[in-house]
Amino acid sequence: MALDTETLNLLIDAVRRFVHERLIPAEDELAASGEVPPDIVNEMRDLGLFGLSISPDFDGLGLTMEEEVRVVFELGQTSPAFRSLAGTNIGIGSQAIVLAGTDEQRARYLPKLASGELIGSFALTEPDAGSDAMSLRVSAERDGDFYVLNGTKRYITNAPIAGLFSVMARTAPERRANSISCFLVEAGTPGLIIGKPDKKMGQAGALTSDVVFDNCRVPASALLGGEEGNGFRTSMRVLDKGRLHISALCVGIADRLLRDAVKYATERKQFGQPIAEFQLIQAMIADSQAELYAARCMVLDAARMRDRGENTTMQAACCKLFSTEMVGRVADRAVQIHGGAGYMSEYAVERFYRDVRLFRIFEGTSQIQQLVIARETIKAHS
Ligand SMILES: Cc1cc2nc3c(=O)[nH]c(=O)nc-3n(C[C@H](O)[C@H](O)[C@H](O)COP(=O)(O)OP(=O)(O)OC[C@H]3O[C@@H](n4cnc5c(N)ncnc54)[C@H](O)[C@@H]3O)c2cc1C
Repeated sequence: MALDTETLNLLIDAVRRFVHERLIPAEDELAASGEVPPDIVNEMRDLGLFGLSISPDFDGLGLTMEEEVRVVFELGQTSPAFRSLAGTNIGIGSQAIVLAGTDEQRARYLPKLASGELIGSFALTEPDAGSDAMSLRVSAERDGDFYVLNGTKRYITNAPIAGLFSVMARTAPERRANSISCFLVEAGTPGLIIGKPDKKMGQAGALTSDVVFDNCRVPASALLGGEEGNGFRTSMRVLDKGRLHISALCVGIADRLLRDAVKYATERKQFGQPIAEFQLIQAMIADSQAELYAARCMVLDAARMRDRGENTTMQAACCKLFSTEMVGRVADRAVQIHGGAGYMSEYAVERFYRDVRLFRIFEGTSQIQQLVIARETIKAHS
């Protein structure tokens, strides 16, 4: 159920104020320490950011997709590492349970994910299974009332701080979608080993690491939906939604980068005038604005389609492909407009330039989005 306009506007205003008054001033501290300050985590919880998309039945705000992307346009105005903490709970960290959990699993985990008491994590990728997720090798063998998990997951967001992992594991040897199941594994389960945080190009504070299963025994009740074989399809559905969320984030970041670039261009003078008066600088501003506007329209359109219950696999892939590539170009132009200053870490554009590189890679690379778009388009026209 959608919020009424006034409540939604109040929420968006509150998030905007929080981003500008609390998060933007803390960006440098986050980049230096690699940790979201605990008082900010508490404020994020109080604002309901961990439960934006989780139903009010489980203490979330129950936003529609359109409402969620509008809030994420605001969250994108600051370092994406802040968003990563809460965004995983409302996206890939909770959606498998929302989509396919049993009533008991929903009741047990969703309220804690919605409040941020529990940090969620989604473990699909492995050292030898990235884009080709169906080839994953982490195994789950039935042993009486338990399953025993073995193998390694790689680059798992929030793993070092997560309380709950949605883990895709093989319950049958054949290379088929229904050979893969999803398990809800709680932190602290014996045999669940979390690797050291990865050293990354950007997004300091958004932690990733390996997750190793060494004869990790989980009760049969940890099987998502109580049924083997639904893990791969659930993952793809989770990613469909995640792709719209990431696209909205890219729109927000591009907006911030454009604002920073325009501010610099109007203040910086060369040849006796602000560089914003040079048409070659204006061309970069215009191209960025046009692409940003196009991405915003696409994301809102796809979000509305999703809210109407339509299949948005193709549209979500289009949004992910276009928005993530778009924010890369906007970041590149923002650095260019800043000249040498854009290469210096005291300007935020330098950090964002590194941060946004990730978006073309995770939750499906740009090439995988192209494959999805082509597959769905050919299917629709044959
Ligand atoms: C910071 C970060 C956070 C992440 N968080 C998570 C997480 O929380 N959970 C999770 O499960 N995973 C996560 N990932 C993993 C991420 O989803 C994968 O890295 C991504 O899907 C790509 O897989 P790969 O790295 O194995 O690259 P590969 O699949 O090896 O791809 C290498 C290159 O080959 C291209 N390629 C592959 N197949 C094809 C094809 N058929 N046609 C054309 N080109 C192709 C790719 O596009 C890419 O350019 C994260 C990754 C990073 C870097």
